[in-house]
Amino acid sequence: MHTAVVLLTRDLRLNDNPALADACASADRVVPLYVLDPKLADLSPNRTRFLHQCLADLRERLRQRGGDLVVRTGDPVAEAIRVAREAGAETVGVAADVSSYARRREGRLRDECERHRIGLELFPGLAVVDPGAVRPGGGGDSYKVFSPYHRAWSATEWRSEAPTPRRVTLPDGIEVGTLPSIPAGESPHAAEGGETIGKRRLSAWMRHIQGYADAHDDMAADATSRLSPYLRWGCVSPLTVAEAARSHDADAFVRQLCWRDFYYQVANVFPKLSTEPYRPAGDTGWRYDHDALEHWQDGLTGVPIVDAGMRQLRAEGWMHNRARLITAAFLTKHLGVDWRLGVKWFFRWLIDGDVPNNSGNWQWVAGTGNDTRPYRRFNPIRQALRFDAEGVYVRRYVPELKGVEGAAVHQPWRLPDSVRRGLDYPAPLESHRDEAVWLRG
Ligand SMILES: Cc1cc2nc3c(=O)[nH]c(=O)nc-3n(C[C@H](O)[C@H](O)[C@H](O)COP(=O)(O)OP(=O)(O)OC[C@H]3O[C@@H](n4cnc5c(N)ncnc54)[C@H](O)[C@@H]3O)c2cc1C
Repeated sequence: MHTAVVLLTRDLRLNDNPALADACASADRVVPLYVLDPKLADLSPNRTRFLHQCLADLRERLRQRGGDLVVRTGDPVAEAIRVAREAGAETVGVAADVSSYARRREGRLRDECERHRIGLELFPGLAVVDPGAVRPGGGGDSYKVFSPYHRAWSATEWRSEAPTPRRVTLPDGIEVGTLPSIPAGESPHAAEGGETIGKRRLSAWMRHIQGYADAHDDMAADATSRLSPYLRWGCVSPLTVAEAARSHDADAFVRQLCWRDFYYQVANVFPKLSTEPYRPAGDTGWRYDHDALEHWQDGLTGVPIVDAGMRQLRAEGWMHNRARLITAAFLTKHLGVDWRLGVKWFFRWLIDGDVPNNSGNWQWVAGTGNDTRPYRRFNPIRQALRFDAEGVYVRRYVPELKGVEGAAVHQPWRLPDSVRRGLDYPAPLESHRDEAVWLRG
């Protein structure tokens, strides 16, 4: 009788889960295992809440198939080995990942498996196209620029989706362990985790996907998929999402999934993406102005479009992509604050926060990353007038400005004194009071 352990990490789903599908097809007994790692527990209350919701949903779905989710707390490597030995498993399967933490974990797991004569099997599933599977000609280890990567990625044959297991049979006598409670999180309007909700969101999105190309930058329309937290935790498979989008000819949307894969292949060869500049030449002259940083974090810079984005982040644990670009550019290019401080703040709040996408995008904006135009600037007022033309997005998140109609909300300093004095809203930060500063951007 063959027994397999599947160490789940951020592939919290039954659908198109190559590690789980392989174990269910090749072993008689399967232990789907999740180990709560105390080292990751305090990074973000929002993500912890989402994760615990995912685990509860996964347990329910596994139980419906005769199995269960086995839960342990501790070092994932030590616990995986302990469970494998208890269950008499011959193999441990895990999805390959790219962050330096995940890679160290994988290395230790390999050593321990070898020591205990247990087979370790690595599986795809994190991306549509595996990091490292598409390489530039001439011997490079990864693509540094998106467009050629996108061309190569689009020409690559995708793997087939793995079948969803119909039955999961646990070994006799295994202690399944208690699910962690679901903590409050920090954002009152955060999305709820789990494969069940992720699948529902994906089906609902397919009814709106045709409008994506035209509306994805319209901040008030909120016309993006909001699938990112579900992709981050693997509640939906990136391949399943990409296949569904491709069947709707939604090229603009598929291209965004390619951006996600792009940053995974960058992180795969440059795992220190969160702390070290990808392009060191751009990494100079940062300011460490904590007062400015705090105003930015609190959504009190006095620039409405920036403040709206920062408040959306706190309220929902998520932010519209256009607002991420504007707020990140404001911190790094206007306030001149080190991008690493922005990475950290986003990483605390974002439910979809992960190393490749958060840090990769921050570096792109800061001019230290994969942008072919590293000196570009985003003028927040022009961005606001273009992508929130009626000011609806700003008024949604900055209630102090509710009474200001139309696009006038983007430049409260231009309002007549009598109106401005009645607003409980700050003037722009000292260094940014002169409107000429915006126009240079
Ligand atoms: C400073 C900054 C930080 C970011 N941090 C993260 C992060 O931690 N995690 C994260 O998933 N995304 C991050 N993004 C990318 C992007 O903003 C989000 O993926 C997107 O807003 C999620 O919303 P959505 O699911 O509705 O996206 P949609 O527009 O519906 O796009 C579909 C999917 O494509 C992928 N995608 C879209 N845009 C990008 C992009 N620019 N880079 C990489 N993948 C993309 C995401 O997986 C997204 O779910 C960041 C962007 C910036 C500018």
